[in-house]
Amino acid sequence: PWIAPECVDNSLSNSNTADQWSFGVTLLEICNNGDVPLSGCALSKGNFGTVTLYLYDPANDGTGEYVAVKALKQGNDSGVESWIREIKILKSLKHINIVKYKGCCTEMGGQVVQLIMEYLPQGSLRDYLPTHKLSMAQCLLFVQQICQGMNYLHSQRYIHRDLAARNVLVENDKLVKIGDFGLTKYIPDGQNYYRVREDGDSPVFWYAIECLKEGKYSFSSDVWSFGVTLYEILTRCDPRQSPPKKFDEMMDSTQEGITLVALIKLLEAHTRLPCPKDSPHEVTLLMQQCWSADPAQRPSFQGLIDRFESIHR
Ligand code: ADP
Ligand code: MG
Repeated sequence: PWIAPECVDNSLSNSNTADQWSFGVTLLEICNNGDVPLSGCALSKGNFGTVTLYLYDPANDGTGEYVAVKALKQGNDSGVESWIREIKILKSLKHINIVKYKGCCTEMGGQVVQLIMEYLPQGSLRDYLPTHKLSMAQCLLFVQQICQGMNYLHSQRYIHRDLAARNVLVENDKLVKIGDFGLTKYIPDGQNYYRVREDGDSPVFWYAIECLKEGKYSFSSDVWSFGVTLYEILTRCDPRQSPPKKFDEMMDSTQEGITLVALIKLLEAHTRLPCPKDSPHEVTLLMQQCWSADPAQRPSFQGLIDRFESIHR
């Protein structure tokens, strides 16, 4: 678990020296530091990676800073290329509402590559919201910031493809940042969608109807996922109202198995997630617009920012 100090140098091409330093003491595993009031060093095991909390302390005198280190899950060799792509994408993104890249690090002659990013102490929105009583105004501030981050991402011609409360990270009660660029794709100029055929790991309950039916991902399909994220925020990520749970309740239970077929059928019949209890009328309307069957009818993130600004005022 020790990581070489020289690794943290904002470079992807340092595989030669890393091994010699893998017993350095610059990045300390937090669970070895008894007086830090944190729950443990493993922040999470997501679908694709594991995220661990470290103390980056080059002077080795306790003046360091916490960093979150993401590694590709063991045994996921097929994902190495997309893992390197994820790191390069994050490195290129600079926005207050996008998690900050700090560096990367290779070990074992380049066999293991780790992504080092700023640590957001409150974890993901999915963990934060159920345990913190947020007012509607605070929720809408977060929503506005997600739109700002997404608007920037789209201006760089990237689509996120995994926007969800679990991938929005919380700095404090006034600041959130978008994370997890594992499924992000670049849309070249002149093109407006990206076609993917994927296996069973896709976050289907966050996906727009054209993604499910045709594997067609676009700026507008991110807006659909934003609508689902907005739903999660308005329900304060209550697990009893989660998108998979709600869709499951609405789906035809006589049609065994094939969730995807049942989900497409539901969406084609214009069934959508229910309106969260205390959602302001204007916000509900915006959310429903994000779920328009026709991608062209959905707002852009810039459009959403303008609308939320006028609601917030
Ligand atoms: P995966 O690709 O496996 O889904 P994520 O990048 O979404 O991995 O990270 C998984 C989880 O780890 C997040 O949901 C969050 O709880 C936690 N996490 C990720 N990055 C950070 C960070 N920078 N600071 C704090 N917690 C983080
Ligand atoms: Mg994730």
